[in-house]
Amino acid sequence: MKEPMRKEFLPYARHDISEDDIKTVAEILKGNWITTGPTIAAFEKAIVDYTGARFAVAVNSGTAALDIAVGALGLTPGDEAITTPFTFSATSNAILYHGIKPVFADIDSHSWNLDPIDVRRKITSRTRAIILVDYSGQPCDIDELKSIANEHNLFLIEDAAHSLGATYKDVKVGVHADLTTFSFHSVKHITTGEGGMVTTNDQQLSDKLMMLRSHGIDRDAGSRYGPEAGWAYDMKMLGRNYRITDFQCALGISQLRRLDEFIAKRRKLVALYRSLLPPDIQTIVEKQDRRSAWHLFPVLVPKGVSRDAIFKKMRQGNIGVNVHYIPVYRHSYYQQHHPADPNDFPVTESVFSRIITLPLFPKMTEEDVHDVVETLKTALQ
Ligand SMILES: *Cc1c(COP(=O)(O)O)cnc(C)c1O
Repeated sequence: MKEPMRKEFLPYARHDISEDDIKTVAEILKGNWITTGPTIAAFEKAIVDYTGARFAVAVNSGTAALDIAVGALGLTPGDEAITTPFTFSATSNAILYHGIKPVFADIDSHSWNLDPIDVRRKITSRTRAIILVDYSGQPCDIDELKSIANEHNLFLIEDAAHSLGATYKDVKVGVHADLTTFSFHSVKHITTGEGGMVTTNDQQLSDKLMMLRSHGIDRDAGSRYGPEAGWAYDMKMLGRNYRITDFQCALGISQLRRLDEFIAKRRKLVALYRSLLPPDIQTIVEKQDRRSAWHLFPVLVPKGVSRDAIFKKMRQGNIGVNVHYIPVYRHSYYQQHHPADPNDFPVTESVFSRIITLPLFPKMTEEDVHDVVETLKTALQ
């Protein structure tokens, strides 16, 4: 085999932690509150200020955020929630945690986001919610999905693990749905190692989220501390321990200050990719009324070309390509417990057969982008 052009493996994503980020975390580690302290509310406030949502509730993962978001809706087993199969399985798993039936709808062939027309087709008398995912960082067709939700009295949850900082009609993600969830896993736009957040404009939902993240208890440890505080609390709901630590939130606050810079860099790298990629490589269409935060940069290999062969050659060339995602209904757990026929999802299947995610993260250089494109061109020969 030929020597790879790149000596060092280029991952598809990587966090960017600065000296300032580290200093902020160290400060908290030296203090008295490393968990259930004031830095959690400070991070929530920072997300409220950034997104424009009224309330934000921080948790220890994006998955926990999805779990309490579905939990806060108070649905009944047997109810149905419509979602996209073209996502990380955490999205639909959150539906399963509550005994609700996941119903998949196909994606749109330009954005690879939920297709509102197919969502409409999948509605039954048991449908209670739509869980949308802003795939790769581009917001879904929010207005269309909102009007479907209003017509049928459904809740809307936006899994915005890819789209922190993205805008739809000039309005930031975080306020469009009844509940919006974010992830701060290390591959995402900003990181707390592991972490997540739910935003909402609804006070009642926010109160429920607060309880659900900490055993369903109505008062947190901070409010039961000090000479004036009493001992009493009540467990009102069946919650879990999904609490995030203060030092993680310190990292989140510090990272959030850098978010716009991260997104600007991602957009610049995407523009460079677009200018260099061969014309038969299909990319996501960014719709005019929205601005993607570009969490991922997936492309489609030309029809008739083996994606798996390209994948292998690029990995051997030290390019950390990936596949986002294996359609959820293809996983063996779903096949056993919630079988769906792949033929019902022609767009998902077609995109999945050709998709490959190219590396994209703020620390990447323009030279890295050139390396990826050159390796891809060689692989295509
Ligand atoms: C990352 C991700 C999640 C889960 O977030 P974690 O913080 O890893 O639990 C959920 N949905 C989507 C679409 C994601 O990309």
